[in-house]
Amino acid sequence: PVRVRFCPSPTGNPHVGLVRTALFNWAFARHHGGTMVFRIEDTDAARDSEESYLQLLDSLRWLGLDWDEGPEVGGPHTPYRQSQRMDIYKDVADKLLEGGYAYHCYCTAEELDLRREAARAAGKPSGYDGHCRELTAEQIAAYEAEGRSAIVRFRMPDQPITFRDLVRGELTFTPDNVPDYGIVRANGAPLYTLVNPVDDALMEITHVLRGEDLLSSTPRQIALYKALMELGIAKAIPEFGHLPYVMGEGNKKLSKRDPQSSLNLYRERGFLPEGLLNYLSLLGWSFSADQDVFTIPQMVEKFDIADVNANPARFDLKKAESINADHIRMLDEKAFVAACEPWLQAPHAPWAPEDFDRAAWERIAPHAQTRLTVLSEITQNVDFLFLQEPVEDEASWQKAMKGDPVALLTTARAKLEAADWTSGPEPLKEAVLAAGEEHGLKLGKAQAPVRVAVTGRTVGLPLFESLEILGKERTLARIDAALT
Ligand code: GLU
Repeated sequence: PVRVRFCPSPTGNPHVGLVRTALFNWAFARHHGGTMVFRIEDTDAARDSEESYLQLLDSLRWLGLDWDEGPEVGGPHTPYRQSQRMDIYKDVADKLLEGGYAYHCYCTAEELDLRREAARAAGKPSGYDGHCRELTAEQIAAYEAEGRSAIVRFRMPDQPITFRDLVRGELTFTPDNVPDYGIVRANGAPLYTLVNPVDDALMEITHVLRGEDLLSSTPRQIALYKALMELGIAKAIPEFGHLPYVMGEGNKKLSKRDPQSSLNLYRERGFLPEGLLNYLSLLGWSFSADQDVFTIPQMVEKFDIADVNANPARFDLKKAESINADHIRMLDEKAFVAACEPWLQAPHAPWAPEDFDRAAWERIAPHAQTRLTVLSEITQNVDFLFLQEPVEDEASWQKAMKGDPVALLTTARAKLEAADWTSGPEPLKEAVLAAGEEHGLKLGKAQAPVRVAVTGRTVGLPLFESLEILGKERTLARIDAALT
């Protein structure tokens, strides 16, 4: 059975690269009817925070990515927070030492630096040189007597390591490129290099799908896994698949610090979770040659790790927005109304709560649904209905002032007053059209000053539907106000 894991470290705000990794693991698990394990890698007390941990949970919940084992749901391998598993790591490290798979290394940082420099200068591999691999009891006693402290270092095999990456195919790492590496700090704190594969082994993870930045740790983990198997701790080596880098502006790797990479930004701008997930799934994968908008269940049905592309993916905000707009249009009317709710309230809504008119909102909603890119845009599109006065916007007036807006507005007002306001938007359109004709203006030009007078803006939802929903009295009063 397929068992995958999503195992972020709770540092900082969740970012899109992290979400893409979570999504691919989740889709893979769901596609295969497997298990999604959510583990928190919080062994770095200096960098991890509880706030970040809570945000991770909240973000995954918002996105609708659920997990079968992990925080809040439990499972057979509790606890799922590494900070609560320290005695497990200590025990495994001891067994690795006893079995000779790891050794104490007494080299100081200065000594390591000096030897690394010397190796570089001689054109030799500059990784750890195995200095403490075969210390005698006397040498160890001498180091201890000096008061040196030791880290635990894993002994890499002297043969190359080959594995078949699910995305990249067969890869080989030679010993020169993968020297012995630290797994426990001198103060006893276990490192990522130990705790991550140990937990993958204990939690019986079958597939490790993660970012390309972690590719270099894979040969080390495979070697460690072999040791864990010999010790009876691991059952089998998982398969590995490394997801391509995501490139941002200027073809540089999208970094965590890039504002575009913050998940919260998309949430605050009113991306739908399904729109964002649809877009993120295209970072390294494709649904089909001619379709890039799809539902998440459709994605799950089709998702295959073998279809993930090894080449870097390019982050394209415009495309993300356009896909999100499609998902907004795909909502049924009720769901759209519900999704907009947060943006119709404080702190987003500029109107007084008692001025909000639900009936008017529900009438205008379908006209807005086809026009939004992100949900947050709803506020400015409907505020004219709920504000006492339209937003003051001098710039819009300047734009709409072509010709003689006073004469046009005066005529339009008279015709709108005489129009039938009970038969839909058509008679209102006829009125403005006729006013325009009197002044030699086409409909587009004639409606611009009416729109600014009534909504304060030069662009917005279909005008005559808007007027109808605003009502005759308020429409005329706004034109009057604009004329004085
Ligand atoms: N905690 C690690 C990280 O956030 C997990 C890496 C992995 O998937 O192995 O980078």
